[in-house]
Amino acid sequence: MALMITDECINCDVCEPECPNEAISPGEEIYEIDPGKCTECVGHYDTPQCVEVCPVDCIPKDPDHVESEDQLMQKYQKLVQG
Ligand code: SF4
Ligand code: SF4
Repeated sequence: MALMITDECINCDVCEPECPNEAISPGEEIYEIDPGKCTECVGHYDTPQCVEVCPVDCIPKDPDHVESEDQLMQKYQKLVQG
């Protein structure tokens, strides 16, 4: 499952550089996660790095992008192959 950023985001910018897939970017009002690039950090880390650093805990799983661990691994492999 990709993760998403809710409107509780305070635009602190600490998550963006932590994302190994460059899936996080500043949106028009708050930061956004590209579900095509977010692997929940599968392939890189054991835990989602953005969730680890977010001070307001506003990065839940995105119910619109449900994916299994296998699907996340396949996404990771596609991303590293370019
Ligand atoms: S869970 Fe990992 S891949 Fe997904 S947005 Fe957060 S840091 Fe990036
Ligand atoms: S770490 Fe959390 S509050 Fe900060 S920009 Fe990222 S999502 Fe927003």
